[in-house]
Amino acid sequence: MTKAETMSTPTYEKLKAPTTGTRVVVEGGVWKFPDDPIVCLLRGDGIGQDVGSVPGITACAIKVLDAAVEKAYKGKRKIVWFDVHAGDVARSTYNPAVTDDQVKALDEEGQRKVYLPDDTIKAFEYYSLGLKGPLTTPIGGGFRSINVYLRFRFDLYGCVRPVKYFKGVDAPNKHASKVDMCIFRENTEDVYCGIEFKSGSDKAKKVISLLRELGYKEDLVLDSAGVGIKVISPERTKRLVRMAVKYALDKKCPSVTIVHKGNIMKFTEGAFKDWGYEVAKAEFRDKVITEDELWDAVKPEAAALRGGKKPGDANGRLVIKDRIADSVFQQIQLRPDEYSVFATPNLNGDYLSDAVAALTGGLGLAAGANISDKAAMFEATHGTAPKYTGKNMANPGAVLLSGVLLFEFMGWFEAAELVNKSLEKTFAESEETAKKGPGGKLFVTYDIARQFEGYGEAAGAKSSEFADRIIHHIKAM
Ligand code: NAP
Repeated sequence: MTKAETMSTPTYEKLKAPTTGTRVVVEGGVWKFPDDPIVCLLRGDGIGQDVGSVPGITACAIKVLDAAVEKAYKGKRKIVWFDVHAGDVARSTYNPAVTDDQVKALDEEGQRKVYLPDDTIKAFEYYSLGLKGPLTTPIGGGFRSINVYLRFRFDLYGCVRPVKYFKGVDAPNKHASKVDMCIFRENTEDVYCGIEFKSGSDKAKKVISLLRELGYKEDLVLDSAGVGIKVISPERTKRLVRMAVKYALDKKCPSVTIVHKGNIMKFTEGAFKDWGYEVAKAEFRDKVITEDELWDAVKPEAAALRGGKKPGDANGRLVIKDRIADSVFQQIQLRPDEYSVFATPNLNGDYLSDAVAALTGGLGLAAGANISDKAAMFEATHGTAPKYTGKNMANPGAVLLSGVLLFEFMGWFEAAELVNKSLEKTFAESEETAKKGPGGKLFVTYDIARQFEGYGEAAGAKSSEFADRIIHHIKAM
């Protein structure tokens, strides 16, 4: 039995555990999702939070998610949301009197407790699943980021970012309608380990003298250089690529592309590629075909994988391919329909996920998740947009689509599809209205409304109206 399976119910300082619902568990490495899972909900700060009777984007998104579950499963399934706290909301709930100066004087762990209380950590550890709105970056400096803390504390090694085009959203790329991609970014290695030595420091000098011993001379590495170390291991590569391949197979995606810069960094990025192919072939041989095997016109074993079909026909198998990182940035713009799921090391994935999201035009729609083998946090990737706090204006789309990702993670595909289709309808009908000229009633929020000719931000619907319209379409399906 794993630690999570044997954990006793936590006791909390301020939280009250739900009295209904069932805990999600991971048994023998397999997630078990009940029909009434308890999911930790971090509503977030700024636009994430409700202000008096004005709903924030998280409340709007939850309303839609609940409506989709009700429609899809007619009471047989239901998510039990457990409100837990982080960010400014946690600080005001747990330490309302603490001043900024007092926070700054705390050590890193003290600051962490202000913005991410033990209650929240205990709840997430016990219930394993979370949905998170945006959070204010803590003041203080010692404890830098709630997201990074959660990522390391729970070894959330897969950063998952799905991106698809929604008709009616103004996208800068003319092929945007062909974008339907999901990026799996390794979250725990690469240059993000933070192993860096400042130019001129004792540690930098030590590392440089070791490099000299290894034969790297002054013509290559100057004595004055700052030094950073890139770390990529087979175990952590394989678990990430495994996650990407499983996702692609579950969702019947056509391909997984391993993105790397192995032509330059052979033993880190190049090895990432090799280990990626290795795990795909070792563990999913009956379901995958590599790009080489797909096009091989000579080897009988390649033809056998294709079921005798001609080169280029994958015979329903998932294609595993790889691309050099720089080429992939032009490929996603020129031939987006040839790419589906990506598996990337940490830095490539950081760049690539923003670039792919930009293709389709929507920060307000950028969803994500950080996932391990025993915990998963689903989250909007945008921030708290503080100027819109309490205005019922911001787009709940990114939190909503993070919820869709949660549904897909649990295998609740019917509910996920209802939200996707209804969201699409809501964008498309407003686009149709706008095409008829100014003055029409829109159901999209200000950020989408301002993209339509003759309409401005003021023509945008409230966040809650947008959510209600999506629910209207869900009910009509
Ligand atoms: P931001 O909150 O993402 O907002 C930047 C701009 O993006 C907004 O002014 C707005 O643009 C647009 N935007 C973001 N979310 C939107 C939504 N749901 N609907 C419509 N428009 C949206 O970035 P920031 O101002 O740099 O950061 C504010 C705070 O959020 C900081 O404390 C930052 O550290 C934090 N943050 C948190 C996270 C996270 O929790 N994951 C991520 C990033 C930043 P327009 O004004 O042009 O409409």
